[in-house]
Amino acid sequence: MNQETVSVEFTVGIGDGKFSAVAVVPAGQTNLTQILPVLQALDDSLIAGVASQLSEVGRTISCRAGCGACCRQMVPLSIFEAEALTAWIRTLPESRQQELAQRFHEALLKLSASGLIDRMVNEDWLAETDSARQLALEYLYQRIPCPFLEDESCSIHPIRPLICREYLVTSPPQHCFDPTTLQAAPVHLPLNLSRVLNRIGAELENDSRGWIPLLFLFAWMKAGAHPGDAVAGAGPEVLYEFVKRLSEARAPSPTAEPPAED
Ligand code: SF4
Repeated sequence: MNQETVSVEFTVGIGDGKFSAVAVVPAGQTNLTQILPVLQALDDSLIAGVASQLSEVGRTISCRAGCGACCRQMVPLSIFEAEALTAWIRTLPESRQQELAQRFHEALLKLSASGLIDRMVNEDWLAETDSARQLALEYLYQRIPCPFLEDESCSIHPIRPLICREYLVTSPPQHCFDPTTLQAAPVHLPLNLSRVLNRIGAELENDSRGWIPLLFLFAWMKAGAHPGDAVAGAGPEVLYEFVKRLSEARAPSPTAEPPAED
């Protein structure tokens, strides 16, 4: 039976401008993990707007299927997306689950051999410090492909993490592959939905950063955690919790307007 939905309008201030959107969310009980498809659609909409603005000044986003140059970076996966991917993986045929489990295992073996795991666990990756940048480079040069990468394309493209959607460049692939000698031209997004998810997750668990390295996904699955339940309620309420954090993350003074329902 299809769940009843409701349209929710909201606006978030972005510097001198604003990001306005309409999201369709479940009218009844849901949680943050379950509304991830809504957040993915919002991220895609935001990115499409930025791509359009870039094209007006002659810049084109170069990321496309067949280019997996960035898919050898460390991916901080929010625990809500880890939960959603866990549920999705469990719907796959047993043989496919085993294939993925084997790929994650092999990737972790390579990571272990690199000697980077201890530093990875202790580093604040999102702090944008020199040491975090250095570790990110060392990780990249291990050339450990994301286990979801197939034929240099993302095999989970429609449900890929927000942070993967938000990593965009206007430079050639080689610049992402070898950033110490070639400078990539990243696209600045006025809002980072992935960071907001991580921040909400970090508030839920004292011993967590709100995210895990994507390569740890199969190990994380075994705990059977359901972090999304901690942010639950009717669809508009759950969305508002997210939009409120999104606005707070952007500016010290919240500028989110409460959602208006049709
Ligand atoms: S999830 Fe997809 S887009 Fe993200 S790193 Fe893996 S293959 Fe690349």
